[in-house]
Amino acid sequence: MITRRNFGVLALGGTAASAMGLRAASAADKGLIGVSMPEKTTQRWIDDGNNMAKQLGAKGYSVDLQYADDDIPNQLAQIENMVTKGAKVLVIAAIDGTTLTDVLQKAHDAGIKVIAYDRLIRNSPNVDYYATFDNFKVGVLQGTSIVDALGLKDGKGTFNIELFGGSPDDNNAYFFYDGAMSALGPYIDSKKLVVQSGQTGMKVVATPKWDAATAQSRMDNLLSAYYTGKTLNAVLAPNDNIAVGVISSLKGVGYGSGSMKLPVVTGQDCQIQSVKSILAGEQYSSIYKDTRDLAKVVVGMVDALLTGSQPQINDAKTYDNGKKVVPTYLLNPVLVTKANVKSVLVDGGYYTAAQLGM
Ligand code: BGC
Repeated sequence: MITRRNFGVLALGGTAASAMGLRAASAADKGLIGVSMPEKTTQRWIDDGNNMAKQLGAKGYSVDLQYADDDIPNQLAQIENMVTKGAKVLVIAAIDGTTLTDVLQKAHDAGIKVIAYDRLIRNSPNVDYYATFDNFKVGVLQGTSIVDALGLKDGKGTFNIELFGGSPDDNNAYFFYDGAMSALGPYIDSKKLVVQSGQTGMKVVATPKWDAATAQSRMDNLLSAYYTGKTLNAVLAPNDNIAVGVISSLKGVGYGSGSMKLPVVTGQDCQIQSVKSILAGEQYSSIYKDTRDLAKVVVGMVDALLTGSQPQINDAKTYDNGKKVVPTYLLNPVLVTKANVKSVLVDGGYYTAAQLGM
């Protein structure tokens, strides 16, 4: 069902599509591709959707781009609708990677190919390909940026750290956490880094729905329970949304003013708000994932699948979804700190200097 709420960019051809600036469907149209994105509160998914629509349109496909408002039944209904409309390939960034088994069976029975976009879809044999960034490396970069900023390799310490994880229904969150802990763990073991709350492990540090307000209130609780009379030196925040919540909590108790330095806070996605925060010396780092490149890889996969050639992959072992190892293409994430905002984000053409207030 297409309600006003879930009506994304529906490019079915004719004047509607032209009016939206997308390529109109025609006799030469290469077919409909369904693109299902999780939500619009995280800037990256808007960029992802726009890049996909633009690049698919340029190759002659029609695009049904839908956003699910982080609501699982909504995403299911949108994907079912794409199946009914005869999409040839589904490109899905799942809200909860475990909930799509039935609809993907329907897709498979209808001969539709499925590409998991950025997030692995779990517990289904009907996932043909996966394209993402090297999620473990994202975590390694986040953890290493804390190690470097604190000078732990030079023997500095002891420092206090608190850990945040991403959403427990997102497969990526475990890779981010494990990657970060591969860098931080040795210093926690040697007590150069101390988690005063004792809260470690995804079971306790996860942030459902990657929600900034949830992260903020957990940070409030940690600060009042464990940091009266102690200084917090670093926070592992798995993405920019969570970093925003964490920093706002820290500022609320006085960090970032007078002699109270803000802790080293990580992030991910290089959202404009967070890049500005990095430039202002608040958030310490973020991870740049060029969504234009991810779209390019996925559009290449779509094209290959529909022209009978082999999609390009570079990883055939890491992403076991519980039913199969999904052939994957991994892109390279890049650490961004104040030092390379300009060279990576502006010179690379992702943002203009004006967008970042530079
Ligand atoms: C993505 C991150 C994003 C997070 C929250 C993850 O699956 O890989 O880039 O920050 O979801 O939307």
